[in-house]
Amino acid sequence: MKFNSIGFANQIQQAIDACGYTKMTPVQEKSIALVRKGRDLLVNAQTGTGKTAAFALPLLQRMLDKPTDNSFGHPRTLILTPTRELAEQLATIINQYAQFLDFNIIATYGGVKCSGQAAKLNAGVDVLISTPGRLIEHLNLNNVTLSEVEFLVLDEADRMLDMGFITDVSKIIHKTNPKRQTLLFSATMTPALNELSHQVLSNHQEIRTSKKVNSTADTVEHVIYPVDEERKISLFMDLLHQYNWFQVLVFTSTKRQADALLETLKKKKVKAALVHGDKSQGSRRRALADFKSAKLQVLVSTEIAARGLDIEGLDFVVNYNLPFLAEDYVHRIGRTGRAGNSGQAISFVSPEEEKAVSRIERIIGTKIKRVFRRGYEVSQRTRFIKNASKKPKPQFSSFKKFKGKSKGKKPSTKKR
Ligand code: AMP
Repeated sequence: MKFNSIGFANQIQQAIDACGYTKMTPVQEKSIALVRKGRDLLVNAQTGTGKTAAFALPLLQRMLDKPTDNSFGHPRTLILTPTRELAEQLATIINQYAQFLDFNIIATYGGVKCSGQAAKLNAGVDVLISTPGRLIEHLNLNNVTLSEVEFLVLDEADRMLDMGFITDVSKIIHKTNPKRQTLLFSATMTPALNELSHQVLSNHQEIRTSKKVNSTADTVEHVIYPVDEERKISLFMDLLHQYNWFQVLVFTSTKRQADALLETLKKKKVKAALVHGDKSQGSRRRALADFKSAKLQVLVSTEIAARGLDIEGLDFVVNYNLPFLAEDYVHRIGRTGRAGNSGQAISFVSPEEEKAVSRIERIIGTKIKRVFRRGYEVSQRTRFIKNASKKPKPQFSSFKKFKGKSKGKKPSTKKR
């Protein structure tokens, strides 16, 4: 369905044109009309599906349709999101959508001083985007009041729960107008999320943007390279060299692995940078900007950057390690195959990580293709260690069973 067929106000349609969007993505097709009708929604959609426009465009339209005499400049729309990167990114995108409108759109998040944000809030805000913790600080300092919030969006709600924001989120929601419209977006659906949805949504409609819950974009090709843990750096360098991957985002599980990989990349004169929790906000922002503007070939990241990075045209995401939670696989590779572009999610899997593969396959609903690269075969030694760490088989009882069945042969050593 085309955007220009659904009657957005000229100022919004102009912004859509300026962004170069013509056709709606599936989540937009399913959500926009319902949001405009004022319905509460629970949307199962991951980053990269166009979900920001799915809520922001119709909410801007609703704000235009229902002008208020909000002379104190209190926010009418509140968007809660888990990380500062996401908050900044949402502010950038929504400012684009509202570029021909007279709305103040502000993002507040931790890691920077409150005072600068307080001054902006005092000057009046129509759309407030915030991380929960920082918003609580502003509320405690009376920098903002939420009683005029008519439209509430919980973006990446599952992640907010994972990060332990539930108490803050509940406190914040209680301060908004009880008659508000609420939209809850989540890449994964968990029992905790279901419970939250029942607490905050009213007579809501559920929207799923793909056949399977927790699924990844259809345009992503998933590939696994079985490899020993200690050979992963060498495999990465080989593949990078052979395929000349450009703008590749690599996720490691630990900072130590991220540091080691970055050191090797630098030694080989590959332009690369790192984002992880110990880096300052400034250095993370610089690394992201350099990566987005194609000054870097590789961006190495720990889990922190997994959510919400809006990096367009990303063809490759490499899981240097598989994430601990299968759901995080879905979030990590949400960076690729975005808005219909194709992408590859490449995972390096050591024998110790094999168990995680089946969990991931279950959650994405497909078997992942395995590529066995010559020279990187999983060593016998690792297999041996892996088998040795398994529980010993109950030899005695199998022998007894064997005895009862036939004579003369040794008991089978086959796995049962
Ligand atoms: P999101 O899922 O909101 O993070 O959006 C992912 C990317 O898709 C962003 O770069 C958007 O600018 C882009 N996008 C959103 N909607 C459309 C659309 N209808 N057509 C083309 N690109 C879009």
